[in-house]
Amino acid sequence: MSESIIKLENVSKTFRLGLLGKTVIKAVDRVNMEIRKGETLGILGESGSGKSTIAKMILKIYSPSYGRILYRGRDIKEFKGSKGLKEYYRHVQGVFQDPYASFNPRRRVLDVLRDVMKNYYPTLPPEDIDREISTALEKVGLNISEVAGRYPHEFSGGQLQRLSIARALLVKPEVIIADEPVSMIDASTRIDILNIFIDLKETEGLTVAIIGHDLGLTRYASDRVVVLYRGQIVEEGPAEILNEPSHPYTQMLAKAIPRIDKKWDSKIEYGVGSLALGATGVGCVFADRCPYAMDICRREEPPMVDLGKAKVKCWLYTKK
Ligand code: SF4
Repeated sequence: MSESIIKLENVSKTFRLGLLGKTVIKAVDRVNMEIRKGETLGILGESGSGKSTIAKMILKIYSPSYGRILYRGRDIKEFKGSKGLKEYYRHVQGVFQDPYASFNPRRRVLDVLRDVMKNYYPTLPPEDIDREISTALEKVGLNISEVAGRYPHEFSGGQLQRLSIARALLVKPEVIIADEPVSMIDASTRIDILNIFIDLKETEGLTVAIIGHDLGLTRYASDRVVVLYRGQIVEEGPAEILNEPSHPYTQMLAKAIPRIDKKWDSKIEYGVGSLALGATGVGCVFADRCPYAMDICRREEPPMVDLGKAKVKCWLYTKK
């Protein structure tokens, strides 16, 4: 097994909402997971599952409420102040959902890329800066002459997302956390963007975590997956577990995808439930939607059961 680059140990994140912050929402609930060197890890879940909160905690946009996040064994809260953050972001970079919001609309894109280089490599001569930018652009299928002089609005969403990836690559990071990187771009270019991450993993050994809500795209892009529901990991394992998911929630996600090689039982009814954040009750977080829910599911939290390839948090797989 490859070494762990990022490790989450019993990480929870709560938010206080409403007047006087009296409503407490648990967005992430005791999550243990790791991102291993040279892999693409898919973090899959619907809106409200906590997946983007996890991405933001790894990227130090939020701090965990409980537990800790380690980068190569070092608690990331030690990377603080402008110097510490800069050091951290040399290793761990983010690519975000909305490529249009990722660039200042009033600045030419090439100037933004040059600023990143000047910030991280202040003594590098301008010709070397442009050579590094050129190399990063080529890795995402662009060249510097087609970028020069242009503002963000002159690019398509797909091109801007490529530029976001190129900007992340400028500092030669070890890990990229890509938070829903294809959900806001044209469907016809989504696979192209995912292929860039796959190529970077294969040619450069880059480690990538891809956060997404689409089971098919996540399966396509990932070596390994974790599936989240209401802040908890409910299933995890190699990406092929998504071909025959074990957890009723993952099965529900898979049912939404047309398959030519497998017919999911269309008679199974899933409850509507609430996708509000937070696993506040007792028992299984999926019990209000699960067609297989038993009494014990509403009374006791299920254990994580090791099925060999997959680990599944569900009472159906225990002998109890
Ligand atoms: Fe469904 Fe029970 Fe399994 Fe939860 S523990 S997913 S409610 S069968």
